[in-house]
Formats: sequence, C-alpha cells, structure tokens
Amino acid sequence: MYRSHNCGELRIGDIGRSVTLAGWVQKARKMGGISFIDIRDRYGITQLRVDESCPASVAEVSSSLGREYVIQATGVVEERQSKNEKLDTGDIEIRLTELKVLNASQTPPFTIEDVSDGGEELRAKYRYLDLRRNPLKKALMLRHRMAVEVRNYLDRQGFLEIETPFLIKSTPEGARDFVVPSRMNPGEFYALPQSPQTFKQLLMVAGYDRYFQIVRCFRDEDLRADRQPEFTQIDCEMSFVEQEDVLNLFEGMMRHLFKEVCGVDIAPKLPRMTWFEAMDRYGSDKPDIRFGMDISEVTSLVQGNGFSVFDSVPYVGAIAVPGAAEYTRKQLDELTEWVKRPQVGAKGLVYIKVNEDGIKSSIDKFYSPEQLQAVASKAGAKIGDLVLLLCGQKRKTQTQLGVLRIEMGNRLGLRDPKVFAPLWIVDFPLLEWDDETQRFYAMHHPFTAPKPEHLKLFYSDRKEDLEQVCANAYDFVLNGTELGGGSIRIHEADVQQRMFDVLGISREDAEYKFGFIINAFKFGAPPHGGLAFGFDRVCALFGGQETIRDFIAFPKNNVGRDVMLDAPSRIDDAQMDELFLKSTANE
Ligand code: ASP
Repeated sequence: MYRSHNCGELRIGDIGRSVTLAGWVQKARKMGGISFIDIRDRYGITQLRVDESCPASVAEVSSSLGREYVIQATGVVEERQSKNEKLDTGDIEIRLTELKVLNASQTPPFTIEDVSDGGEELRAKYRYLDLRRNPLKKALMLRHRMAVEVRNYLDRQGFLEIETPFLIKSTPEGARDFVVPSRMNPGEFYALPQSPQTFKQLLMVAGYDRYFQIVRCFRDEDLRADRQPEFTQIDCEMSFVEQEDVLNLFEGMMRHLFKEVCGVDIAPKLPRMTWFEAMDRYGSDKPDIRFGMDISEVTSLVQGNGFSVFDSVPYVGAIAVPGAAEYTRKQLDELTEWVKRPQVGAKGLVYIKVNEDGIKSSIDKFYSPEQLQAVASKAGAKIGDLVLLLCGQKRKTQTQLGVLRIEMGNRLGLRDPKVFAPLWIVDFPLLEWDDETQRFYAMHHPFTAPKPEHLKLFYSDRKEDLEQVCANAYDFVLNGTELGGGSIRIHEADVQQRMFDVLGISREDAEYKFGFIINAFKFGAPPHGGLAFGFDRVCALFGGQETIRDFIAFPKNNVGRDVMLDAPSRIDDAQMDELFLKSTANE
C-alpha cells in the first residue's frame, strides 16, 4: 500500500493516527534541529516533521530531498505548534517514522507555486509540471465538474451521448479542414470534423431524437487570440422541436450548470434579443448587457448643418459615457487615437461634453447648443456625461461604436466579472454577401433553415430579397462572449438543394460534397434543430478567466504548435512514400 491518506485530508480529529502519505516535495526547510517537508499531491499539502525523536535513517533521507522528489512518508499525526490557516491541513503535521524516496527529480525549471516564476513558453514546454500548479488544477477540476453536470442534466432530459467519427470527408464551408492522407486509398484524404453537424442531423433522420456529445472539433483557422485548432463542443440536436423548445431546454442546462458549478442563480427566463436590435443598440451580435451606454442613431439630428463629415455619410451614431464629461483634452486626444487604431478602424471621433454650465463640443462651430443638447438627449446623456459620436456605413459604424462601448465599459469598471448576464440572440440573417468573392455565405452554416415566413423570399432571385431572409438561428451570449449557437435545420431535400444553389455551389459539387445528406432527407427526415456550446470557453468563463488555454490540459500555442511535443513536425521519407505524399515546402 503506497498511502493510507491523501495530502489534503488529515485534520485535527486524526491526531494520534499512524498514516502513510505519498506525493511530491513542495519544499523542505530546516529550523534548528527540526526539518519540515511540505508534501503535495492533487488534494493538497501536508507538513511533515523530522526531529530528534525520529529514526536516524529518516533524518538522513530528509536531508537528501530536493524539490519535486516523489516520496513516501509514514508517521503519526500531531497537532501543530504554529497553525497555518491557509492550508486545510494547517492544524496538523506528521512526525515521521519512515521516509522513502520513490523517485528523485531534477530541479524544476520554474517554481511550482500559484504564481510561478516561469515564462509562458517555458511552462508550455514542461506542461506536466505546470499542471502541478493550483490554478491549472482548479481549472481542470472545474472542467471535469462541468462535463459531469452536462451529462447529468442531458441524461435526465432523455438525451443519448453518441460518438461520431473523426475521419470524415472534407467539405470546407467556413474554416479550412485539417486533412489526413489515407494510406489504403492512395491520393485520397480524410478530413477531421469542424463539428459533427451532418452526423447529428443524420442521427435525427435515424430517429435518435435527442442526441448530445462532448466532442473534439478541428478547424484550421488563422489563430486569433484565444482560439485553439482543436477545441471541444457540447454538441446537441433534437427532433420535433421549434426554436423556443431548443432555447428553453438549453437555458435550463445553463441554469443547471450555473447553479451546480458556480452556485449562481440566473433569471428564470433569459432575455431574447433579435440580431437587428443587438446590432442597433450594442453594435455587436454578442452584446454585453451588464451595463447600458446603448448606441443611438442621431443621423437626422446632425445632417444639413454644413458639417461635411456628417453630411457625407449614411449613418451617425452616439453613446453617452456616464460621468466622463470631465475628460481632459489629452484624454480625448488619446481616445481619438484609440478609435483610429486598425482594430477599431474609425476615421475620427466627435465629442459633446454635457457640463453643469452648458455644452462643450468639438463641433461647436457647426451646431447651436440646442442642437447639440438634442443629440446628447437622444443618446441618453445626463449632466456630467460625455457623448461620443462616430459616423460612416451603418453596420460598420455600429460595430465601431460597439467596440468603443466595451472599451469605455472596461475603463469605467462596468464589466464586473461576478455579474452574469446571459441572453439569446435570435433571428439572424440567413445569408451574408461577400463583395470580394461576389457570393452569399451562410451566416451560420448551410444547413440552417430560413424562417418559414421568409421561404418565399428565399426562392427569389433578387439579391436584395435574399439579404432580407432571416434564419431560425440563435446564439447564447454571456457578458459579451458567444458561448454557443445553433439553428432549426432544413429537413427537406429541395430546400437544402436551394440553399446550395443560393450559395453558388454547383449541383455537381453539392452532390460530391453533400450528396449523402440531401439523399438522407429523401427518407423521412423529421423537423429538427440543435446547437453547440464551446465547452472550453464556457469553462473559462465559469472559472472567471479570459483565456481558454488554462482549461485545456495540453493546449497549442498561438501559432498552433504543441511546444511540449514540438508538433507539427516533419515525417520521414518512408512515411511520406507510404502515404503517396511529396512535400513542396522549402523546395
Ligand atoms: N455545428 C454548429 C457549429 O459548430 C453548431 C450547430 O449549429 O449546432 O457552430
């Protein structure tokens, strides 16, 4: 028997017991004739004591220990002289009768402490050491709890967890696929799934009317901050449901998770906001509704006064920043530079200060104080507020105002991480026109159904009509982050075919890539819909962190590399030959 207890469980009630622990040396220190060793495992830390009453062999082993040595320690639980309130085991220590080194350790390249002295790259290379640290341990424990509670909830709701394949057909419509060469089928490739979308729909055709899976997905995207090429989804699909059924069931799941994992109660019925309202009011399809500062359109109030910047654009919008009228010239200049950064992309910034003693603005020359007051009032400004205006194309400007709103929310400390404000965004446009490729793309994905009342528009050949078509699509948004999304699907072969036509996918190409699903829809496909949550991100948010990397045991870095494995890497010529591959890299 290696251990009788773990390193986190002994308490004052255990005094007098003879116990054996096994774990890692967190630290060892000598004070006079007494040595203390902190032994650590997944469960906690316990203090071991070596004094003159211990056998000589124990003292000898104890003086040979280094950090991270794996040891086995036997002794008697005693009350500590000086207690440590920070440790669960802080009331006791173990006076040793036996001490064994199970394995020595090199000195670790960084300290295994809550705040380590190791840089990110170094810790990534030795991820197994980093994972010994508390913050990462806590993150992985939370992730486990979440997975268990997801399964508990969905199981109780009659869902079946069904696995779908990882080696599938390449059908890129969105991100790039990761591909895998097939040795047994020379010159042919599998792709790793970007999501199990088509499989879960086929499971609906097969009659498994409530499916879920906690599943890995793969997308070969240029990595933006906090994206991983492989990530995990809670993927779900249901048959014989309408949008409201799906929303109710999954806000139930989120409520369950909030309650069980965070001990937080969220509203019994979450708000639903249309995509159009979210864009108009918050300049974002993932609005943070923990604070106000809504966007107001003020175009008609500011045009026709000879201010050509505003006269020459289709849209002028404003936000009122509470209590910021005291911003100095310098702060306003800095903010103007900030909105001009490529990440925001505005051309300039106009301000109106609503002071006790009147209005002050960067456009005083063109407008009377009454006119400026009218703009400020429309934006909802009160005395002491600062109104910020941007202009240009409508959606683009709203998006910029949305980014500015979040920035001001951060600066004013309005985004309290302890407040959770989830909501659903609904009624997305079905299609998005891309000027560059001169074609429509599916805003969600090509299996998303148009709203039944927009079906006629969907069959129109006019671009303007198609732009009007809304989808039965929805996103779950929390504090400015999209945590999940889905839709009611197309379940009729001819509507699906129409979708591929609208997307400019030729009949042959559609047949080649998606023939299997169009075919399946001809064999009694039930009405169905579902969604997927980004599991890593849900965990990170529940853990109160911005980055998902800590919630993944072995993540990739920001250029998609596994620093520990040093992957990706070259394969040898024999392996290449076997796969009928020839590399043109570095040629
Ligand atoms: N498969 C979709 C995605 O990965 C989610 C869904 O529509 O269910 O975004």
